[in-house]
Amino acid sequence: MHVLVLGAGQLARMMSLAGAPLNIQISAYDVASGNIVHPLTQHLLGHGLENAIEQVDVITAEFEHIPHDVLDVCEASGKFLPSTQAIKAGGDRRLEKALLDNAGARNANYYVIETREDFSRAIEHVGVPMVLKSALGGYDGKGQWRLKDATQAEAIWKEMAECIAATPTQAIVAEEFVPFNREVSLVGARAKDGHVEVYPLAENVHTNGVLSLSSAIDAPELQAQAKQMFTAVAESLDYVGVLALEFFDVDGQLLVNEIAPRVHNSGHWTQQGSETCQFENHLRAVCGLPLGSTKLVRETAMINILGEESLPESVLAMAGCHIHWYGKEKRTGRKMGHINVCGDYSGELQRRLCALAKVLDADVFPAVQAFASKWRD
Ligand code: ATP
Ligand code: MG
Repeated sequence: MHVLVLGAGQLARMMSLAGAPLNIQISAYDVASGNIVHPLTQHLLGHGLENAIEQVDVITAEFEHIPHDVLDVCEASGKFLPSTQAIKAGGDRRLEKALLDNAGARNANYYVIETREDFSRAIEHVGVPMVLKSALGGYDGKGQWRLKDATQAEAIWKEMAECIAATPTQAIVAEEFVPFNREVSLVGARAKDGHVEVYPLAENVHTNGVLSLSSAIDAPELQAQAKQMFTAVAESLDYVGVLALEFFDVDGQLLVNEIAPRVHNSGHWTQQGSETCQFENHLRAVCGLPLGSTKLVRETAMINILGEESLPESVLAMAGCHIHWYGKEKRTGRKMGHINVCGDYSGELQRRLCALAKVLDADVFPAVQAFASKWRD
């Protein structure tokens, strides 16, 4: 099988690594340049979407901000999975909210803003404090505002109006502020025959709006809620592949924050922690193969490496530590790689995270430090 991935970043790279043992070959299509590249080496393999489509059996995507004309060409080939509707919803918060409502998945109350009058109506409808998010183009907490009280409205409106004017069809989605206890996510896969397998929920820690630490948790009550919403969303889209749902946990009740119609950063722990990793399961699903077990095999936490291109060599020597570099050029705050830390039981994983906290730079890995100090107390 030969799969084309729209996007040539780390997710395509990790799909390529996971596909090799199954003889699934991956090419990556760089949507910005139109180049077809090898996802590991970035070597140029060709140019042009039509050319790329012709050479493969299946097309999928590693991100959701894909121009609709590109998606439409892929759709017309009959080779695209999970579903262009899912990708479009993942890239537009208006469609995403409508999708969640339609599937009956609980989510924060919201109002769509295009004009100053809409903003006033949103304040009435949603209330203050509220979170404001650009409908198009937001990721890693970018394109967001927080309205804490009505006196900030004019200043925030100025910025939002600029954002709306900069992109045709742009709007802002105002959302009630959710006083969550923690953030969790569910990554799972749906096969062509409708069979669904989900991984254990992961608890996610963000630092400055970017995921910094993610680890599988054992929470049967929440897991059941999450799986029910996951299945409803996936079925409503006739989805095929790996899908991630991000949730707010509010006193034991889950509210969907957003969906990611692809393999997800909060599922990277499955490379070491699960019987079959999310990358392999995505490929299995889109290639029409049976899904692999999503069973947890080792307690695992994933730590993102942001803006750093090297780590102390001693990390490699630490028991249970696995480093995954993405081969990217260094830029401030950029996702450069991740570390999966494993233990045979949760106490061992905690000990290893505490040991890691001693060798990692506290400024670069604040979430690991916070974790370690919590366990030292
Ligand atoms: P990413 O792509 O990294 O997941 P994003 O830019 O798509 O991020 P969101 O996940 O919607 O944005 O929001 C980023 C973070 O802001 C969330 O993880 C959460 O911590 C916080 N947040 C978002 N919406 C709300 C809300 N309604 N109430 C409270 N906090 C929120
Ligand atoms: Mg998010």
